[in-house]
Amino acid sequence: MTPAVSFQNVSRHFGSVRAVDGVNLDIEEGEFFAMLGPSGSGKTTCLRLIAGFEQPTGGHIKIFGETADGVPPYRRNVNTVFQDYALFPHLNVIDNVAYGLMIKGVDRATRTRRAEETLELVRLPGYGARRPGQLSGGQRQRVALARALVNEPKVLLLDEPLGALDLKLRENMQEELKSLQQTLGITFVFVTHDQGEALSMADRVAVFNEGRIIQVGEPEDIYRRPRARFVADFVGSSNVLPPDLAQAFGGPRRWASLRPEDIRIGKTGGHAATVTGASFLGAATRVACDVNGARVNVLLPSGSAVPSLGAPIRISFDAAALHPMDDAA
Ligand code: ADP
Ligand code: MG
Repeated sequence: MTPAVSFQNVSRHFGSVRAVDGVNLDIEEGEFFAMLGPSGSGKTTCLRLIAGFEQPTGGHIKIFGETADGVPPYRRNVNTVFQDYALFPHLNVIDNVAYGLMIKGVDRATRTRRAEETLELVRLPGYGARRPGQLSGGQRQRVALARALVNEPKVLLLDEPLGALDLKLRENMQEELKSLQQTLGITFVFVTHDQGEALSMADRVAVFNEGRIIQVGEPEDIYRRPRARFVADFVGSSNVLPPDLAQAFGGPRRWASLRPEDIRIGKTGGHAATVTGASFLGAATRVACDVNGARVNVLLPSGSAVPSLGAPIRISFDAAALHPMDDAA
């Protein structure tokens, strides 16, 4: 199948800043694809390159098999939900949503009807007459979504669309966006710096750092089998063990990832450790341990007995939990 979006050795440099640096990537049609990475890692620039607001300084982008070189944004069949929503404050909700159709020359009656239908799709019926200033943050987010969807894009680009919402609302919207994507079958490219969001929503995730993709894979794969220290650390705050400790723990003498929730605390067996700290996280408690001078975090489910500070303990884990990584990156 022809990928919906294909990056072929794409770079976007701004002077000496390598915002995007040699990215190769195929995003499949109908996929919910997440671009995950810290601030400044090149995620927004990648979206802008797909949308056509930015041109590569190297390489090529293809959209459904056709080169995007020189194709202006409005001819790409791609729409963007911007991070700050970018609604027109002086237009009411209907006119905001219908804006793209107006630009295309669709008559008023048709575009009003389609705007109303799209507002129903994002569960905001009856809000057409309001101005953006009269809406909550979550409602504005839905209007921004409707304004993009009304154009029936084949690819929807979402740049940290839930970043401004509080936690409860964000979790609700995550589920809604996911089911909307499944209903519509549109390819979603979703940018976030929130690893939980990427893992819970996406079919596949690309982890970015400094303009490059460090790893692409299904959420479970990224989480369980990080290929590089950066991924292990950024996705789920794994313990990144230096080669000598990995060897002492029974693995090969290579950098390794060991998930805090995969470690057990006991009195016998395993490896000697000393408790150096404990943080109550609600659903779990994170216990910091010292093992031969290295810090190892252990995540205990809520309700477990938490050993006291300075206590000598033993930590153990299944051999399969120790995951060796490439040394690079
Ligand atoms: P992210 O969305 O992952 O936070 P961006 O794609 O916005 O990252 O930015 C990646 C890097 O490129 C950053 O260092 C940023 O400062 C730089 N950058 C982005 N746009 C421009 C621009 N128009 N001019 C100069 N530098 C830019
Ligand atoms: Mg950004």
